[in-house]
Amino acid sequence: MKIFNTLTRTKEDFVPLEEGKVKMYVCGPTVYNLIHIGNARPMIVFDTVRRYLEYKGYDVNYVSNFTDVDDKIIKKAIEEGVTAQEISERYIAECKKDMEGMNIKPATTHPLATREIDGMIDMISTLIDKGYAYEKNGTVYYRTRKFEGYGKLSKKNIDDLEAGHRDDDHKLKVSGEDEKEDPLDFVLWKPKKEGEPYWESPWSEGRPGWHIECSVMSKKYLADEIDIHAGGEDLIFPHHENEIAQSEAANGVQFSKYWMHNAFLNIDNKKMSKSLGNFFTVRDISKEYDLQILRFFMLSAHYRNPINFSHDLMEAAKNSLDRIITSVSNLSHLSENAKTTDMTEEEAEIIESTKDIYNKFESSMEDDFNTADAISSVFELVKLANSNSGDNSSKEYLEALKSRIITLCDILGLNVDKKEELLDEDIDALIQERQQARKEKNFARADEIRDELLSKGIVLEDTREGVRWKRA
Ligand code: AMP
Ligand code: ZN
Repeated sequence: MKIFNTLTRTKEDFVPLEEGKVKMYVCGPTVYNLIHIGNARPMIVFDTVRRYLEYKGYDVNYVSNFTDVDDKIIKKAIEEGVTAQEISERYIAECKKDMEGMNIKPATTHPLATREIDGMIDMISTLIDKGYAYEKNGTVYYRTRKFEGYGKLSKKNIDDLEAGHRDDDHKLKVSGEDEKEDPLDFVLWKPKKEGEPYWESPWSEGRPGWHIECSVMSKKYLADEIDIHAGGEDLIFPHHENEIAQSEAANGVQFSKYWMHNAFLNIDNKKMSKSLGNFFTVRDISKEYDLQILRFFMLSAHYRNPINFSHDLMEAAKNSLDRIITSVSNLSHLSENAKTTDMTEEEAEIIESTKDIYNKFESSMEDDFNTADAISSVFELVKLANSNSGDNSSKEYLEALKSRIITLCDILGLNVDKKEELLDEDIDALIQERQQARKEKNFARADEIRDELLSKGIVLEDTREGVRWKRA
């Protein structure tokens, strides 16, 4: 399996640190608003990477944080006259709803920055002890030049960076706010301003900088050294570069073996921004489309290519996904009415031939997660199923074809097995009919109804008070 590693700018063979296990960290959103469709891209892409690794038999420990202390959260709290915690809790809950709609598996752990302050204080203290950080009037800075590898991820040269910083530095110095030893130094801890949330620390009542939280949560929930660290490409610099400087200086080992970054999502070929009026939240999209269509749309492009969002492209994604769903539903229908049970030899050969399609699918995924090509293999399978199934097909064969399609779609996180949903009144009517059949001692019909309901996910329970049902 090959992964494009931002650290080396090459596709490298994936060899985990520990056999059979993958330790993976994905930078999560800052929770001050509903997530937008750009934020959804890393969530969908890296959830798919996780699902594929799991399909290959790896035990994946997947950690993704919520940044729940930040200037934007505090600003929103002040605007609404509520606490920062109320804002972050609200948008974490909303984000989880969107994730569920997009069929994104919950992480093994979703740590919150505000619950990990002790760990941050520990790591900052270590950095001070080792000479990588210093305190000035309650603020702690990272001594960037002291870390030899600084710039290795973003391929930035430290002297060029300094030239870029000079103007800002001048402004800051004039305003008297900046006491850094070097303009490249960045904040690890800062003192509170009036009305802001704060924590006690050896340096001041204050709060951590953004970069330190990921270094600490990755260490605590995974290890000092992890396999994959991921996020959107805007995080390469400075966020991930600073994470490397902190973690490697504090822990003395390589932080992450592989770094993966998704390209950006644009709208009508322009950067998505509130001021341009081309800004969509995932919630906006969910009013018009099943969010699985958004997922399918995202996976139709390679994650390292920019992707352009438009209404037309969403419509095209909807039609494509519908083709898969329709094929699966036809196979279900044929299977329910199949006249024969066992697979014939000829049918077995067709099932055997799907192995080639599976191999192609896997090769695409193993070439740096080329989901666009992997989706083409799914369509090849759909085509094969559509043109090789009918009223005379056996049940076993139809079920095998269906499960071949569903397995590949599951790896992509696409739920294509839409069991026809029964309305409550339909269920009640069937239960009535079953009661009647039992009264007439027509137990065969009564059992048939029970099985039919069960196949649609409805479980019946006979109690003294009558029949109760629930959705399984
Ligand atoms: P933020 O809440 O800004 O820290 O962003 C959370 C995640 O979304 C990060 O991994 C960002 O890189 C990613 N992200 C933000 N905007 C976009 C976009 N337009 N396209 C793709 N990824 C994005
Ligand atoms: Zn991060």
